Amino acid sequence: MSATSDRREIVVVGGGIIGCCTAYFLTRHPSYDPTHHKVTLLEASEIAGGASGKAGGLLAQWAYPSNIVDLSFALHAQLSKEHDGKNRWGYRETSCGQLVVKGRAMSEKTQKKEEGESLQKRSTAAVSKLKSAKIPNDLDWIEPDLLRAYESMSGPGETAQVHPYLFTTSMAKLAEEQGAEIILGQVTDIARPDDTVESVTYTDKASGESRTIPATDVIVAAGPWTRSILPEVPIAAMRAHSVVIEPARPVSAYALFTNIEIPANFNPAKKSRPTVAAPEIYTRPDDTVYACGDGDKTVPLPKTSADVEVDPERCQEIIDQVGSISDALRDGKIRTRQACYLPNCENGRGPLVGLTHTKGLYLAAGHTCWGIQNGPGTGKLMSEFVFDGQAKSAKTASLDPRDQL
Ligand SMILES: Cc1cc2nc3c(=O)[nH]c(=O)nc-3n(C[C@H](O)[C@H](O)[C@H](O)COP(=O)(O)OP(=O)(O)OC[C@H]3O[C@@H](n4cnc5c(N)ncnc54)[C@H](O)[C@@H]3O)c2cc1C
Repeated sequence: MSATSDRREIVVVGGGIIGCCTAYFLTRHPSYDPTHHKVTLLEASEIAGGASGKAGGLLAQWAYPSNIVDLSFALHAQLSKEHDGKNRWGYRETSCGQLVVKGRAMSEKTQKKEEGESLQKRSTAAVSKLKSAKIPNDLDWIEPDLLRAYESMSGPGETAQVHPYLFTTSMAKLAEEQGAEIILGQVTDIARPDDTVESVTYTDKASGESRTIPATDVIVAAGPWTRSILPEVPIAAMRAHSVVIEPARPVSAYALFTNIEIPANFNPAKKSRPTVAAPEIYTRPDDTVYACGDGDKTVPLPKTSADVEVDPERCQEIIDQVGSISDALRDGKIRTRQACYLPNCENGRGPLVGLTHTKGLYLAAGHTCWGIQNGPGTGKLMSEFVFDGQAKSAKTASLDPRDQL
């Protein structure tokens, strides 16, 4: 029997974007043969229940690490073409820029609401301010009186976006359609006698029973939880909050990195306030707007994504900040207040993508703030590590987990 026709029991641990893209590309690899290869994806709580379902979804050619960005950016476009990503997961090209803007006080907000006065009715003078500050004309949902500067970071062709939850769950579904099995269960052990993987034990979510399945290859893609399975891996977790708003009126396609000056009277109810806030704001094709704030390390990573603690105050801060620069957002409906954990490589390098010192054990984790952008590239590379023994589509030496274990 040739190596490719040998029976392989391939287990992917983690149903975030990295695990789901890995399962997808394993089932699309030229050597994959469902009669000889079993692909099982084990997810502790819910597919895309962590950061992969709660991220912004920006894809950028200037993301990092540069050795996998181009591959992954191109794969996003290819996947969208192949599987109708435009309708299925909101893939579209988008403009991206940095915005310096002055926030309004919350009291101003209350007054405006009560008076029913809205800056939506723009005067000619207000609109001409957009031009004089070189603000794109279609960025008309940020209040022109408050704008200080805009700098384009890239145009369509260099930046795009997906809806991360829809993309990740679609990848899982597409992998399933080609024979992958998805099991909800929390991995508790990877048996590796003689430095070779042998089996994976998990607690089945539905029954609570402990089960063990054979494994020839195990890809750990557990994001910030990687350390709870492999304690030696230097990946830490950082919480971040985000909100989804249904704006009061349609808004144009932008990903904005903001820098909002917070006035002294912003929220008199709060004793301390930042002088500058920097929420990221992404408009989405489903007519919603996503905004996320800074990370925090105040609450340690809980056992599963279902146990993540959401601090309503942190969500409210984001809502107030973005509302302070845009009537469309201020007067909109809040659809979601949420939090999740970023997987950060402790030494600032990463992600860790490839083989480990243990035969049959692979790592695909630590994608920091670019896991949505780099998900498809990582998935494709992992399928090559498993079936070809090495990465073929990109040079991955700098991401080699063995250098950090
Ligand atoms: C606020 C915010 C905004 C972001 N915006 C962007 C963006 O615009 N663009 C971009 O490219 N990236 C963005 N990111 C980063 C991106 O979300 C992450 O890099 C990416 O989601 C990480 O994916 P993952 O699959 O490694 O981890 P996760 O999504 O955390 O998935 C890991 C999965 O493993 C499961 N798991 C854990 N332990 C076990 C176990 N023992 N057994 C079985 N399963 C287990 C978990 O339940 C979870 O589902 C953002 C992140 C945050 C926090």
